[in-house]
Amino acid sequence: MALAEVQALERAHVMPTYVRNPVEFVRGEGTRLWDADGNEYLDFLGGIAVVSIGHAHPRLVEAIREQAGRLMHVSNLYYTEPAMRLAQRLSERSLGGKVFFTNSGTEAVECALKLARRHRQGGDIVSVHGGFHGRTYGSLSATPQESKQAPFAPLVPGFRAVEPAALPDAVDERTAAVILEPIRGESGIHPLPEQLLAEVRRACDEHGALLIFDEIQCGMGRTGSLWAWEQTGVRPDVMTVAKGLGGGLPIGACVTAPEYGDVFEAGDHGSTFAGGPVQCAAANAVLDVVDDPAFLAAVAAKGERLLAGLDRLGVANLRGRGLMVGFDVDDGPALARRLLLEQRLVVNATGPGTVRLLPPLTVTEAEIDAALERIAAAL
Ligand code: PLP
Repeated sequence: MALAEVQALERAHVMPTYVRNPVEFVRGEGTRLWDADGNEYLDFLGGIAVVSIGHAHPRLVEAIREQAGRLMHVSNLYYTEPAMRLAQRLSERSLGGKVFFTNSGTEAVECALKLARRHRQGGDIVSVHGGFHGRTYGSLSATPQESKQAPFAPLVPGFRAVEPAALPDAVDERTAAVILEPIRGESGIHPLPEQLLAEVRRACDEHGALLIFDEIQCGMGRTGSLWAWEQTGVRPDVMTVAKGLGGGLPIGACVTAPEYGDVFEAGDHGSTFAGGPVQCAAANAVLDVVDDPAFLAAVAAKGERLLAGLDRLGVANLRGRGLMVGFDVDDGPALARRLLLEQRLVVNATGPGTVRLLPPLTVTEAEIDAALERIAAAL
């Protein structure tokens, strides 16, 4: 179908919540994408940190094909091995407690918020300005951005947002949880200082509040360690994961430390599709690739190469860790559009002044160098 035709279908039938670029993608392989006219692109956005091991990774495709051909869905009233095995792996490689599966990032956050309220009933949730946790009501209530919240008021009661530096003092005996991203992604790749994270950890311990780290964007190997918090020395009580976990299939998870594994009782929470065998087989295949010291070391090294190259280009306020990189420009959306349409490089702008790069973790050094050339040309 020609681009004009799919655009007409969108205008007629799809709610206008997205500002789409005028490109129709039809195929992907590794870091490369092809549009309907056969043009080849380099994908330095990875479906917004989702395509963690590249498009059509043979191991992932095979795992999905095999599981889909055997058993696609039975509901959470029964056992399947892919889900139980994935829960074991996620727990053992992170906080050591228990896992609740979801279909998306925002649902993983909803689970964490409900768990915190179940633990301290009626307690407040404290979040941080510049944070992003999703679009459903609980997550949105923890996402203090006027433009996203205001049209949907009233939000969920009992949520408070503070500036990062004010976080430790905002925790008291009424606080159920603090939720934050160790590296704020949607607001333009802004890591929270380690010292601050340690102070928030101390405040939560002092007052018995849960510390929730949202690793939906910065987790799953993105920063060169499986979880971003591993590089900070601060361990959360609860962690949310999604995006890169399924490599392209929708799956998220909320993972707890051992002492919070049994906060929920039977019937407290649920989801029809969550933890389905196909999504879990996909996530197990992604973990097979990503959860490997050599792979993670390569992510860190490739991130350094990307940062060094961008630094040579003299971009403003360059920041990031691993393959999660942002920099400032006068007009982010215009640069992203030029890169897409003229240089065939897929990136995105997180706001008017920031460009964000989140390539597949399998990106090669040659592809990084090619992307740098295209960025240089577009600048
Ligand atoms: N949390 C973070 C840190 C995110 O970056 C996102 C999505 O961008 C979400 C939550 C929401 O995830 P989803 O869009 O899968 O609901």
